[in-house]
Amino acid sequence: MRIDLHTHSRVSDGTQSPTELVRAAATAGLDVVALTDHDITAGWDEASTAADSAGIALVRGIEISTRFHGRGVHLLAYLPDPGDPTLRAELDRILAGRDQRVPAMLERLRALGIDGATEEALAEVTVDAAATGRPHVADLLVRLGAVSDRDQAFADYLAEGRPAYVDRYAADLVRMLGVVTGAGGVPVVAHPWGRGSAGVLDEDAFAVLAAAGLFGIEVDHLDHDPAQRSRLRAIAAALGLVVTGSSDHHGTGKVDHDLGVETTAPDQLERILDRAAELGSPTTLVGAA
Ligand code: AMP
Ligand code: ZN
Ligand code: FE
Ligand code: FE
Repeated sequence: MRIDLHTHSRVSDGTQSPTELVRAAATAGLDVVALTDHDITAGWDEASTAADSAGIALVRGIEISTRFHGRGVHLLAYLPDPGDPTLRAELDRILAGRDQRVPAMLERLRALGIDGATEEALAEVTVDAAATGRPHVADLLVRLGAVSDRDQAFADYLAEGRPAYVDRYAADLVRMLGVVTGAGGVPVVAHPWGRGSAGVLDEDAFAVLAAAGLFGIEVDHLDHDPAQRSRLRAIAAALGLVVTGSSDHHGTGKVDHDLGVETTAPDQLERILDRAAELGSPTTLVGAA
């Protein structure tokens, strides 16, 4: 049983349609895949249909942009009710923040001499994206020949502290744990010690988050080295949290993050599904189990 609980489609910053992603997951030999686009559930229906015909089980999820003590933290939410009004309102606010900062980033790039950084040009690389992000701006910079790939775009222009970086709204993490749970969803913190979020979440912080409803920690992620993984595993064990693993696949948008490169143990997924049922989640696993 091979389970990959964190992937992105073109609905956010992956490079495959939800159908292509689900089919690729089946081809890669996965039994279960979670679609977790950034801050949006718009890919769920298409992915569900594709999962049914590809003979793979789909976990419907979201990777939510949150903030904890001023730092960005990504929160995976599994099987929440997409129609829950409180969750909807939070996601809409985050998506509005994503849209609002795009013109500001483009303006900065033009000020840096990249004349082709216009909204019209960006629209060509965000065709299907309902949740726009820095990776799309990175793709535009590649197209314009300003950088060679997404990584260089982040390093030169888009990472925090670089000249075209613009902040955006993110929901408060502790509040979001309650919102997700209230929507019948199961919250798991994504790559807590990965790029961008390292240093924010220590052992005490995890205890606070567990008390606020955090259900699991994504431990097996390429951003974590073996030493970090064993420390995170110990924290999860001490707090009774589930341990997950995933590829954080972005199609061709993220090098080495191939589908199934890291996986989640079946008993851990079982606990997530049981928790969703306990919370009265109206969404369950779709497709073959
Ligand atoms: P945003 O959501 O617009 O703030 O962009 C963050 C996303 O960009 C993350 O979810 C990653 O998928 C991607 N990302 C962050 N840092 C890098 C990097 N150095 N190289 C490539 N992609 C990155
Ligand atoms: Zn992403
Ligand atoms: Fe993330
Ligand atoms: Fe991700």
